[in-house]
Amino acid sequence: MRKITSGGGWPAVFYTFRKAREMGGVFKLWQAMRSKNACKTCALGMGGQKGGMVNEVGSFPEVCKKSLQAMAADLQAGIKPEFWQKYSLPQLKSLSPRELEHCGRLVEPVVHKAGASHYTPITWEEAFTRIAEKLKELSADETFWYFSGRSSNEAGFLLQLFARIYGTNNVNNCSFYCHQASGVGLASVLGTGTATLMLEDVEHADCLFLIGGNPASNHPRLMSTLKHIRRNGGEVIVINPVIETGLVNFSVPSDPWSLMFGTKIASLYVQPQIGGDLALLTGIAKKIVEMGKHDIPFLTAHCDGWPQYQEHLANTAWSEICEKSGIGIDEITAMAKRYAKSKHTVFAWTMGITHHAHGVENVEAIANLALLRGMVGRPHAGLMPIRGHSNIQGIGTVGVTPKLKDAIFERLQSTFQIKLPTTPGRDTLACMEGAMSRELKFGLCLGGNLYGSNPDAAYAGKSLAQLDQLVYLSTTLNTGHAHGLARETIILPVLARDEEPEPTTQESMFNYVRLSDGGPARHAGPMSEIHVVAEIADRVLKQSGPIVWQEMKSAQTIRETLAKVIPGLESVATIAQTKAEFQIPGRTFHTPTFPTPSGRAQLRTHELPTLAGAPGEYRLMTLRSEGQFNTVVYEDFDLYRNIDRRDVILMHPDDLQLAGLFEDQRVIVKSTTGEMQGIRIRAFKNVRPGNVVMYYPEANILVPRTVDPRSKTPAFKAIPVTVKAM
Ligand code: SF4
Repeated sequence: MRKITSGGGWPAVFYTFRKAREMGGVFKLWQAMRSKNACKTCALGMGGQKGGMVNEVGSFPEVCKKSLQAMAADLQAGIKPEFWQKYSLPQLKSLSPRELEHCGRLVEPVVHKAGASHYTPITWEEAFTRIAEKLKELSADETFWYFSGRSSNEAGFLLQLFARIYGTNNVNNCSFYCHQASGVGLASVLGTGTATLMLEDVEHADCLFLIGGNPASNHPRLMSTLKHIRRNGGEVIVINPVIETGLVNFSVPSDPWSLMFGTKIASLYVQPQIGGDLALLTGIAKKIVEMGKHDIPFLTAHCDGWPQYQEHLANTAWSEICEKSGIGIDEITAMAKRYAKSKHTVFAWTMGITHHAHGVENVEAIANLALLRGMVGRPHAGLMPIRGHSNIQGIGTVGVTPKLKDAIFERLQSTFQIKLPTTPGRDTLACMEGAMSRELKFGLCLGGNLYGSNPDAAYAGKSLAQLDQLVYLSTTLNTGHAHGLARETIILPVLARDEEPEPTTQESMFNYVRLSDGGPARHAGPMSEIHVVAEIADRVLKQSGPIVWQEMKSAQTIRETLAKVIPGLESVATIAQTKAEFQIPGRTFHTPTFPTPSGRAQLRTHELPTLAGAPGEYRLMTLRSEGQFNTVVYEDFDLYRNIDRRDVILMHPDDLQLAGLFEDQRVIVKSTTGEMQGIRIRAFKNVRPGNVVMYYPEANILVPRTVDPRSKTPAFKAIPVTVKAM
């Protein structure tokens, strides 16, 4: 395969046609992509009532390989009954994430009893009976409810409502393993946990810091926005331990000039050591103040804690900053100078920031740096956590968290005249620990891949195996269905977003609520997530106060409830009729008054963490390839890094020379948590010496269960490992 030197481009165009052929032709693909449904993949947000492949500023065509891959997965044929006889559990365990994803659509419920060699198809009636009997047998706090960010607001709200009325707050979502630190960090500084701006603001920025992320692979349509910023003479400052091809140059397929000649994305690319972000961000802030480019009127008028922060910056030595970031003062000064010239700066980040034991502090440091020049609370500037799943933010908004916001709690109790549990709820990792200790005996996963997304994969497998019953609501197979099994595991096939019998709603990372029309079911067997949840609730609780669970099979009925109990979602009650998608009020800040007790932003100071790793160790970061989205692997080839397989470790040639290791050599990679044998070396000069890279989720075997104490997010980055020849 010819080495790729730019992201997007003709390879993306050719890939589209290849996928179209696989899916039954360009017309069939076009029809599916143009349907009025929100894109199923990332939270940048496309589609809905503006029409498929249209973004929030009305730009068309906005489509990427990720959305095509997700659509292609849903357009697969159904898994035939004989599949379950043919493939034993050990055979399923031997399949790669990509092979499992490509087995086809789940179309009938199946069950696996511990010790059995195969999954067995069962009827829906039998499935519901098994689940209801187990739930009636257990006490509510012996159960947990895990949500992926792919489900609709309606399904998410309904399931959390059922879980709470059933009697538990063990309700959590996949953001605990990715962006929880963004929510906690932003809330601590600004009193709000989501992006402070809209896509339109980003389009008009003259400087964008892109920190710890690779949207060229994971949010590809954001590249057209970065192209706009560069074309308008703006700066894109990339901070990432890895030089990512698509962040150096990206050919936006929908732009003829960019397609032909490419677009230079990063105007400045800085490679800190893995885990060096907090020190680097503190360094840029210190330099801004030293240059006198901080906005004192803004800081005194709209921020608390400026004197302490100013003193902290003054007292933090450059030697410590440079040592703990791995970046010299010249590069820091270069970044500060470009930032100082900007009138409208946006700070964007992903898991390179949140996947650390100090992830929340990283987010607070980014917010500090923005506030230092008054870049929050005005148009065309602000803070933008680049979120993962297409409705991860919506799932949080509708109450899928261990602790409900007070307003939602009160409104639910008053609306339904019910008493909700007040017992503390467990976050995701605490549920895994509860399963291991047998305090928890039942789990239900609304989409996602709980097993696959967990740190310490060996522990995750053992803990889920302790459960009496584990229920998965899924569209296709994943590693969780093969490795994350309980004493009884039930997989329920559900409809995809564009197969829902009724419209549903989703919320983008810009706080924009879309209406997805749904569409005809592609297979007879699968059920709507909403119907599955309402049926289970009806069988377990029959009638709870005024709630008639069978009536809750109507997405419209759920929306009428959402409008009553979720602040900012009042308009969803009529959205199916009005088709009026909307920005959630009170989430976009174009004026510097913040929902904190004082109405002012809270500047935070932080001790700088020491870089991980002892002599002879490397700092590992796990990351996604261009061919995957979260734990779902669509292609084994990582196009933009030119890496041909996934059982590899990417190491700088200097490190290989020093260690006497070589390309394609098989090695043992070891951490304090686990060991991986037979891993192949790939020389990779785009990572800094001393740092190594492996693929998520396979490398989760090496990831410890160390979490950020405030976000409960595991540190999937900066893991000390050794690499030894076999
Ligand atoms: S960038 Fe994200 S929202 Fe846009 S088409 Fe791609 S996957 Fe969908």
